[in-house]
Amino acid sequence: MSLSISKLLGIDAAQDEPRLIDLIQIMPHSVIDRRQRPGIANAIDGTVTTVEIVVDYHQEPPKFNKRLPYRVIGHDETGEITLVFFHAQTSWLQSQLPIGEKVVVSGKVERFNGQLSMVHPDYIIPASRNEKLPLIEPVYPLTAGLSAKTLQRAITEALARLPLLPEWIDRTMVKQFGLPSFNVALHKIHTPIDPSDLPVDSLPRKRLAYDEFLAGQLALGLVRHKTKKLAGKANILKGTYTQKLRDALPFTLTQGQNQAFAEISKDLASNEAMLRLLQGDVGSGKTVVAFMAMAQVAENNGQSALMAPTEVLAQQHFATIAPLAKIIGLKTVLLTGREKGKLRQQVLDDIKDGKTDIIIGTHALIQESVDYHHLSLAIIDEQHRFGVHQRLNLLAKGVHPDMLVMTATPIPRTLVMTAFGDMDVSILKEKPAGRKNVITAILPEERLGELLDRVNVALQRGDKIYWICPLVEESESLELTSVEKRFEFLHQRFGDIVGIVHGKMTGSEKDQAMLNFKEGKTRLLVATTVVEVGVDVPDASIIIIEHAERFGLSQLHQLRGRVGRGDKQSSCILLYKAPIGKIAEARLNVMRETQDGFRIAEEDLRLRGEGEVLGTRQSGLPEFHMADLEVHSDLLTIARKDAQLILEKDPHLISERGQALRLLLYLFRKDGAIRLLRAG
Ligand code: ADP
Ligand code: MG
Repeated sequence: MSLSISKLLGIDAAQDEPRLIDLIQIMPHSVIDRRQRPGIANAIDGTVTTVEIVVDYHQEPPKFNKRLPYRVIGHDETGEITLVFFHAQTSWLQSQLPIGEKVVVSGKVERFNGQLSMVHPDYIIPASRNEKLPLIEPVYPLTAGLSAKTLQRAITEALARLPLLPEWIDRTMVKQFGLPSFNVALHKIHTPIDPSDLPVDSLPRKRLAYDEFLAGQLALGLVRHKTKKLAGKANILKGTYTQKLRDALPFTLTQGQNQAFAEISKDLASNEAMLRLLQGDVGSGKTVVAFMAMAQVAENNGQSALMAPTEVLAQQHFATIAPLAKIIGLKTVLLTGREKGKLRQQVLDDIKDGKTDIIIGTHALIQESVDYHHLSLAIIDEQHRFGVHQRLNLLAKGVHPDMLVMTATPIPRTLVMTAFGDMDVSILKEKPAGRKNVITAILPEERLGELLDRVNVALQRGDKIYWICPLVEESESLELTSVEKRFEFLHQRFGDIVGIVHGKMTGSEKDQAMLNFKEGKTRLLVATTVVEVGVDVPDASIIIIEHAERFGLSQLHQLRGRVGRGDKQSSCILLYKAPIGKIAEARLNVMRETQDGFRIAEEDLRLRGEGEVLGTRQSGLPEFHMADLEVHSDLLTIARKDAQLILEKDPHLISERGQALRLLLYLFRKDGAIRLLRAG
C-alpha cells in the first residue's frame, strides 16, 4: 500500500483529525436538474431553467438609488429575459455579460405579467464553454460555515484525489446486486449525470450503505472475536456471596430481576466471555442485578469493575454497594479522578494486589495507572454515556473479562445489532412492586407563584423536592448564573432547607450536597442535569423542571425517573416558558400521557427525527452517513452474516480481500478494530 493512499485515507491519523473521507461521506439530499432548456417563451415560472441568450443591454440602477437592482436584458429566438442583480459589482457583470455575446445562464426563473426574469443566476457561462455547466447538480445539507459552492468544490477535489481502491465486497454479491465499485458509486453520487443515481434506494447509495454496514459489523465482529471466542473464565454460581447478598438486601428481587440474573449467571458460569446488555427503564432496579453478578464473580475470586458516567453516580453506587458488600464479606473501593496522593496510591495498590473485590468508579477506571489483579467482570452503567473505545479500554484491563452493559435507553433490535453486533440482551420489564405512577403536570412559568405556594406546603409536610435548572448550551457561566440565581431566590424564601448541586462544584462538594439531600438536611435541591442519570434518593417525591421545553424527551424521562422510587405518590412539574410551538407542546403532552420509556423514545423519534434521539450524543449509538436504517435494513442483515463469514475464514484479515477490508475499516474510522488486529 503506497504512502499516498494511507495519507489520503487518514490511516494512522488521530481519530479526530479530519480526513478526506469525511468530505465524500457527505451525501447530497437532492439534485438540481439544469437539463431543461425549453426556451424563454416556454420557461415555467418557479423552475430551474437553463437558457442560451444573446446579451442586449445593461440597465444600471440610478446613482441616487443603489437599492434598485442592476438589470441585464437578453433574448433567444423565442423571447426576452431580464437578469436581475442586487448590490452588483458593475465591472464584474460587464465582464461576465458582454453586450452582443452569447451566454448560457442557469437558475430559477420567475414570470411576471408574461415577462421572464432570473434573479442572481446560479451560473453564467460563455456559450462557447457550454460544457462547463453541471447538468445535474447535487445539493448538500448545509454545514456550519461552508457555503454550498465551497463545499461542492471541496468534495469534487477530494474525489479527484481518491485513489482507486480494491474491491472488498464479495464478487458474487457484487454481481448479484449489480453494485458499482466504491469509487464509481462516489462519482455517480457527487458528479451525477443521471438523477436516478442519487436517491437512497439507488444502486450507488446501496453500495455505499453496504460498505458502511460491513465496516461496522466487521469492527464489531473483531471486538466480539476478541472478547467472546477467546475463552473467558468460568465463574460458577456457588451461592456463598450471592445467597448472603439476597439475605442482606432490604427487599426481595422481583421476578424480572431474578430472571435477568439467571441469564447473566449462566453466562458467567460458561467459559465463553459474556457480552450482555441489561436494558431496563429508569428505576427498574438494574444496579442490584449488577451487584449479584459481582457477588458471583467474587465467589470465584475474581474482581469486578463498575464504571459510571459521572462522579455523583459512582459515589452513589459506592454508597449503596459498599456497606452491603462489607456485611457479606467483600471489599469495595471507589476510584474517580478525585482521590489524590497517598490515598489514591493505596487504592491502586489494593486493586493491583487483589485485596479489593469490587471497584466502582468513573473513567478513572480505564486510566493507564490502574492495574487490576484479576478483572473478571466489567460493568458499564448508563452505557449511552460511553463510547465504544471506552468499553474496549475497560475490557482491555482484564484477560477476556465478562462484560455487562446497562442502559435505560430503549434500543430497537436493529440498532442493538448495529451498535453491539450479536450482543445478548436481558430486559427488566416490570418495576419493583408498589411503585405508583408519577403524576405529571405542565405549567407555564407565569404560574410560578402558585407553584411556590405548593412547594411550601410540600416542604411543611416533609417532602423532598428536586428543582432542575436547564443546561445552557451556549455558555457554562450563564448556566451557573441561572442555577445560582434560582438557588438564591428559593433560599431567600425557604431558608437553609434549600441545597444546590451543579457541575462546577468540586467532587466532594457535590457529594456533600447529595448526602445532605439524602439525609434530609436539605429537602429542596436546586440542581442542573448532573442529577439526570442514575441518582437514587428513594424518598424524593417531587421534581420540578424549569424550561422543560428545552429538554429532550428521553432526558425528561430520565429526570422524572429520579422520583417515584419509593412507595410515596410522586409528582413531576414541567415548567415551560410561553409561547411554545406545536411540537414542543406535543412533546410535553407525551410526558403527561405516559411513563413508558419505550413509548417516549418512539414518540421522541417521531417528533424530532432520528438523529436527535438515536444520535451518538444521546444514546451512544452509531450514526450513519451513507446508510439509512429504514431503507437499507435488509443490507444490514447481509452485512452481518458476511462479516461473520469473513472472520471465520480470515480472522486476521490477511488474505487479499482481507487487506482490502482493512482499507474499508480505515475509511469508516474503525481504527480501534484495526488496532485489535495488530494486537494479535
Ligand atoms: P435503575 O434501573 O434506574 O438503575 P436502581 O438500580 O437505581 O434503578 O433502582 C431504583 C430503586 O429501586 C433503588 O432505590 C433500589 O434500591 C430499588 N429497588 C431495586 N430493586 C428492588 C426490589 N426488588 N424491590 C424494591 N426496591 C427495589
Ligand atoms: Mg441506574
